[in-house]
Amino acid sequence: MAILLATNFDDAELAAWWPALQRALPGERLLRDRSELDAGETIDIALAANPPRAALADLPALRLIQSLWAGVDKLLADPSVPSDVPLARMVDPAMNEAMAETALWAVLSLQRAYFAYARQQREVDWRQLPQRRADETTVAVLGLGQMGRTCALRLVRNGYRVNGWSRSEARVPGIETFAGEASFERVLADADVVVNLLPLTEATRGLFNAQTFAKMRAGAALVNLARGAHVIEADLLDALATGRLAHAVLDVFASEPLPATHPFWLHPRITVLPHVAALTDPRSAAVIVARNVIALREGRALENLVDRSRGY
Ligand code: NAP
Repeated sequence: MAILLATNFDDAELAAWWPALQRALPGERLLRDRSELDAGETIDIALAANPPRAALADLPALRLIQSLWAGVDKLLADPSVPSDVPLARMVDPAMNEAMAETALWAVLSLQRAYFAYARQQREVDWRQLPQRRADETTVAVLGLGQMGRTCALRLVRNGYRVNGWSRSEARVPGIETFAGEASFERVLADADVVVNLLPLTEATRGLFNAQTFAKMRAGAALVNLARGAHVIEADLLDALATGRLAHAVLDVFASEPLPATHPFWLHPRITVLPHVAALTDPRSAAVIVARNVIALREGRALENLVDRSRGY
């Protein structure tokens, strides 16, 4: 049995992943391409990260698809990915902490007007703005899963008032939690900063649109760390133009890499990151991959399986 690494990794990414996987999976046969299969050998596990087109099709012995990324929306949308093979996603506490650092940086920068000061510096403008306290700043964390929960806890530790929103009821110490569509407006309306950490599903695609922005506090900010397709980009530009939103921190975009001519790049009220809010770290992730590989080999339950009917 062999394990296929089905990715679009460049040389640098492969140089980081390959030794980490070899260390974590001693004795396993790892393939970079199915053309490396020996006669009579079959692939039973695929490690997927933006796999090339149809890379997971026609693998009759496949028993596990292990995503190397936390989000699996692309894999679920790809009709060539077999829908009857268990799909596990990456859940890595190190990644959750990295996401919490990004969320904290963004919220802190918004609370203390650092993005505004960066604009002022470019304009050679020496001007002191009002200083707002952390405990006067309400942050809505949308999604209270692995990432959202860790971010919410980090924000609470730094003195912010945090409201969390999820599909089902959740309990997170120190934050007020809300569940379901009926509470969405309330969570939005109370927030100075909205941090999006929802998975991309049919229910959440395009969630940030003109109607949503209209329900947010005037002068609030959006921090999108989840998926670009959560946001209707033209509506975001309108909301920034009218002042309804004061700023947006965006790590993810409808089209990535963000096209060079895209209006977000040079927008004074948008901070662009190149999808780096929480990169998968091969050093810890390879160990997590190995746990599921060993579980499969030993016939034990797999971890972090995606519920295809929910879409995450
Ligand atoms: P997760 O553990 O699956 O958590 C998802 C959360 O969203 C859960 O709390 C879930 O509610 C909630 N949710 C789902 N659908 C909802 C809906 N319709 N209404 C309200 N709440 C809903 O996911 P995660 O590991 O935290 O990751 C979240 C997302 O972050 C990923 O899907 C990925 O897109 C993104 N991400 C981005 C980066 C980056 O670098 N930018 C890195 C990693 C991940 P329940 O608890 O009730 O199920």
